[in-house]
Amino acid sequence: MNLENLDKEYVLHSYGRNYTSFVKGEGAKLFSSDGKEYIDFGSGIGVCSVGHANPKLAEAVCEQAKKLIHTSNLWVIEPQAKLAQRIVELSGYDMRLFFGNSGAEANEGAVKIARKYGQQNFESKRYKIITLEHSFHGRTITTVKATGQEKMHTPNFSPYPDGFLHVKSIDAIYKAIDSDTVAVMIELVQGEGGVQPFLKSEVQELAKFLKAEGLLLIVDEVQTGVYRSGEFLASNYYGIEPDIITLAKGLGGGLPIGAVMTSLKDIFEPGDHGSTFGGNYLSTQGALTVLEILESEYKEERIEERIALFDSYLAKMADSLPQIFEYSVGLGLMRGLRCKSAEVQNSVVSKAFEHGLIVLKAGRNTVRFLPPLTITKEEIVEGFKRFEAAVMEIEDSE
Ligand SMILES: *Cc1c(COP(=O)(O)O)cnc(C)c1O
Repeated sequence: MNLENLDKEYVLHSYGRNYTSFVKGEGAKLFSSDGKEYIDFGSGIGVCSVGHANPKLAEAVCEQAKKLIHTSNLWVIEPQAKLAQRIVELSGYDMRLFFGNSGAEANEGAVKIARKYGQQNFESKRYKIITLEHSFHGRTITTVKATGQEKMHTPNFSPYPDGFLHVKSIDAIYKAIDSDTVAVMIELVQGEGGVQPFLKSEVQELAKFLKAEGLLLIVDEVQTGVYRSGEFLASNYYGIEPDIITLAKGLGGGLPIGAVMTSLKDIFEPGDHGSTFGGNYLSTQGALTVLEILESEYKEERIEERIALFDSYLAKMADSLPQIFEYSVGLGLMRGLRCKSAEVQNSVVSKAFEHGLIVLKAGRNTVRFLPPLTITKEEIVEGFKRFEAAVMEIEDSE
C-alpha cells in the first residue's frame, strides 16, 4: 500500500491533508520524498521555532533520551523546574507554571485556575469567561466552546460546557461583564482568526479595568509566545501584566509541550490538576535548549533583522498587487496578507506550494507566514522570490 492509501485506511479522516510527505528538514528548508526542496514559511504552524533538524536541539534531545525520558510528576524533575524558572525570568512576571502537552491543555489549565479563583473570591461563585469573535483556543470540548467561532460549535459534539460567552470586540467586553463573569481570555494577535493584532491602547485599557474590578485577564499566547511577536511574550510587547498566560507552539521547537503560567502562585494544591506526560525530561530539556537558542538570537538582534526583512517584503507585496492583496497584517514573525477573496487565498497557497514555498491559511482570507525564528536572510530572500513567482501566475490568470 502506498503512503496515501495507508494513511487513508488506518488514520481517522479529521484532516483535509495534502499527501506530500517530507522526509528531511534543515533550517527553514524541507525536502519531500520525491526529492523536491521547499522553503518553509509555516514551521509546522509556528512550532519549529528554531528550524528543522536544529543541531543543538537534536543533540540535547538525544543526550537526554540516553539518560531519562520520563519518570512522571510523582517525582521532582530537574529540567522542568529549571524551565519554569527560565520562563519566569525571561517574561519578567512573578508567576509559577504548570506544564502540559499542548495549547488546548494549557488553556484547560487556565480555565481551571480562573474558575477556582472565582469560587474562592466571590460570594456569587463567578465562573464565566468572556472570549472574542475570531478567536481560537483549541479543540477539546471546553476549548472549542471557548473559541469564538460559531462554525466550530457543531451539534455533532454537543452538549458543550457552560460558562463561555463570546463578544464581537474588546469594546463589547465591558457591557458583557455580569455578576457571573470571572475572566476575559484573549489572544493579543488572533492567529487562526486572521493574524489580527489588537491595538495596544485598547488592550492596556482592558487590562487596567479588569485589574481594578478584581477580574482576571487570561492571555492565550500559544501562538504569539516565545519570541514570535519579536519580544519573549506578546504581553511584554503590549506592556501588560496578565494574571494567566498560556504557551505551547514554539516552546518545544517541535516537542509536544504546553504551559500555563499565573501570578496566582498558590491557586493549586496537590490533587487540583495533573498531566501524566506534562513537563517530562525530554520535552522540558528540549524547551530549555530552544530558549537558550532563541534568547541569543533575540539579544544579538537577529530576530529583529528578520522581522524588518519580512516587513519590507510584505509591504511591497501588498502595495504592488492591490488586485490580489488588500493589506499586510500581523506582528513580529507572525504575519499575514489579506486576500481579496477565499478563492484568491486558496490559489496563493497552492501556487506557492507548486513553486516550492510553504505558506499557511488563516481566517478572514489571510495567507499566513510563521517562519522559523532562526530563518536566514538567504532563506527569506529565496522564499519571497518563489512567492512572487507564484503570485505572478495568479495575476496572469485573473
Ligand atoms: C494552536 C492554538 C491553540 C491550540 O493548541 P493545540 O496545541 O493545537 O492544542 C490554542 N490557542 C491558540 C492561540 C493557538 O494558536
